[in-house]
Amino acid sequence: MANDLYDVTIIGSGPAGLSASIYTSRARLRTVLFENYSPAPQAILTDIIENYPGFPDGIKGYDLIGKMKKQSEKFGTEINAAFVKEIKPEISGNRKIFHLITENKIYDSLAVIIAAGSKFKELGVEGEDRLASQGISYCAICDGALFKNKDIVVVGGGDSALQETLFLAKFAKKITLLHRRERLRAAKILQEKIFAEPKIEFLPESVIEKISGKNKVESVKINNIKTGVKTELPCDGVFIFIGWTPNTEFVKGFINMDAAGYIITGTDMNTSVEGIFACGDCRVTPLKQIVTACGDGAIAAYSAQQYIDKIKGTEYK
Ligand code: NAP
Repeated sequence: MANDLYDVTIIGSGPAGLSASIYTSRARLRTVLFENYSPAPQAILTDIIENYPGFPDGIKGYDLIGKMKKQSEKFGTEINAAFVKEIKPEISGNRKIFHLITENKIYDSLAVIIAAGSKFKELGVEGEDRLASQGISYCAICDGALFKNKDIVVVGGGDSALQETLFLAKFAKKITLLHRRERLRAAKILQEKIFAEPKIEFLPESVIEKISGKNKVESVKINNIKTGVKTELPCDGVFIFIGWTPNTEFVKGFINMDAAGYIITGTDMNTSVEGIFACGDCRVTPLKQIVTACGDGAIAAYSAQQYIDKIKGTEYK
């Protein structure tokens, strides 16, 4: 028996996927969105988002994603918790159908929008695996409150590291922010806030070589890469924010990507496979922000709509 046929399947429940689903549902395309693409969307793990237009006092990531989800469901998107393992195209009559294989079920659709986002990178130093969840974290919102009045080391120099450090400063006694370069990569406004916070000490040109502790984090070995001086810094926790890798493993070898695994798209979000579109942090883009992910999602939805209209013969000419 043939599977139920959707017009569009959307993989990912971050700002890109949810924006795409608002547009496809409003275009009255039958849409299913898969939200269980773990880990959680980066935006949902952000404490306060200050640069999404329309919220002058900022908005919590969890609240923003919640509102987008509600808006999408209001227009008719079906949201399912499923993990897509593979996409298999099949020519059926004069149509191409995409089979999306999840753990429990196969979903069929005429077009696919990949908005799978990205997952955090690990440092790869000694002690990181052994002490994972024993004082090492990649999410300040999830674990910050566990470090009330404690000493924390944060690694990274980008927007994530600085934003998360500011959140951790609500709890920690002292934070040492380590960056491998002399200057920070993050937005200037975040740097100003970091340098104004007396609890935070910035250690430039420094890297962690080893994380030590018997059953939980007790110290880190720091190497000053300029002077070569190595020091052991006692601490209770290590937070690592050194960037992200795209969640695109499941389409590796099927869709064209760059060397880092980001999906290559055109300006209309089309990929190397006709009928599959990609948007947000999982595609090659010069700026990864919520606002750009939303824009990508809208364009991907519009392109998918045009593609579907063409195969159904319902274009507005
Ligand atoms: P990112 O911009 O790629 O920054 C990663 C940081 O980690 C860089 O400073 C990098 O150093 C450092 N790093 C990478 N590998 C390392 C290693 N092995 N050891 C030590 N340090 C390492 O990543 P992100 O901060 O997660 O941001 C990702 C994207 O999300 C960016 O586009 C960012 O603008 C966006 N974002 C925006 C906001 C906001 O607007 N408020 C908040 C969060 C994220 P180098 O600088 O030397 O490469």
